[in-house]
Amino acid sequence: MRVLVLTGAGVSAESGIPTFRGKDGYWKNLDPTKLATPEAFARDPQLVWDWYRERRQRIRSARPNGAHEAIARLAQRTDEFLLVTQNVDDLHTRAGIPAQRMVQIHGDIFVTRCSRSEFSERGGVGSPEPDMRGRLRSIAPTSENDVNLPRCPDCQAFMRPGVVWFGEQLSRNELERVENFIDGGACDVVIVAGTTATFGYIMDWALRASRDGAELIEVNLEETPLSRFATRLARQPAAIALPQIVDELINRGAL
Ligand SMILES: [Zn+2]
Repeated sequence: MRVLVLTGAGVSAESGIPTFRGKDGYWKNLDPTKLATPEAFARDPQLVWDWYRERRQRIRSARPNGAHEAIARLAQRTDEFLLVTQNVDDLHTRAGIPAQRMVQIHGDIFVTRCSRSEFSERGGVGSPEPDMRGRLRSIAPTSENDVNLPRCPDCQAFMRPGVVWFGEQLSRNELERVENFIDGGACDVVIVAGTTATFGYIMDWALRASRDGAELIEVNLEETPLSRFATRLARQPAAIALPQIVDELINRGAL
């Protein structure tokens, strides 16, 4: 069996992580789609870091839900499996998906990387790792305003969260991992959950992976551009729909 799962913000929302769209996503009356940009960081890195620190904190206190757990169970039962998630949180990882079976196409919020050079590290600002805190403290701020802003130990440029911002390119390495999986053979089951598929590549991957008559399952509360291609639609919260869908696939002996 070959299975591709694509997930988006809707899956994490059920664990209490606010999505970018709609009123819930607003932070201090600011629109997150305008904060998560290279322009916002260039203008006010402190503000952008404050927001990401809060998001990291919120994610740390959140727990994986039934959807994350069902996808992890599916991964365990499947020889050829890839999860592609738009989510930058670590809830899929905490539910038990190993890194080599998952692509975080929009990056990882717990990575801190240099805004100029290739330097990156896990953790960093707001990180619980004590060695990291010591290391950041040891880098002297250049002005009083920068006091809470981490700088790259190699080139002194500001460090930034390891996520893909609006207007930025997806990582070539991660794209290649998805393309290789899809080119490596048609899937038997493709599940698209909690993403509105408004990004063209989600649609493209779902359709290409299901090219040989795979079951194409969409889990979303609303209709999306992908809905008309789906062989099965679940208009329910992912944490309710996915455990049932995975049970059925297992009982049917498909896995
Ligand atoms: Zn650097």
